Amino acid sequence: MEDCLFCKIIKGDIPSTKVYEDELVYAFRDINPRAPVHVLIVPKKHISTLNDLQPDDELLMGHIALTTKKIAELEGIAESGYRTIFNCGKDGRQMVMHIHCHVLGGKLLHE
Ligand code: 5GP
Ligand code: ZN
Repeated sequence: MEDCLFCKIIKGDIPSTKVYEDELVYAFRDINPRAPVHVLIVPKKHISTLNDLQPDDELLMGHIALTTKKIAELEGIAESGYRTIFNCGKDGRQMVMHIHCHVLGGKLLHE
């Protein structure tokens, strides 16, 4: 996707602070962190929202779930705990239309 912010980050056209990468996903620090640890996990394949997922994406989404665990271990929050969030659409306050999983930990802010 030419004009997708996260596709540009994955390609390296826009700089980001990488936390983890493999053949399916890229994980980087949120530019506006809402917790001491705030990492975004994005699939390298462009998928706009959860509503656009296809049955073929099942393994990819499972891989993202396993990546949350990996990020938690890398960031030292596996034991203390963390929150994972997928926002979807307008009411879900999704700002960037490329699926991403927020991993928040360290000390969650009060809502
Ligand atoms: P959403 O509201 O779509 O679920 O979350 C998008 C997230 O992307 C926000 O937390 C926002 O701070 C983050 N973000 C937006 N633009 C950039 C950017 O250019 N670089 C990084 N690292 N994060 C971004
Ligand atoms: Zn994209």
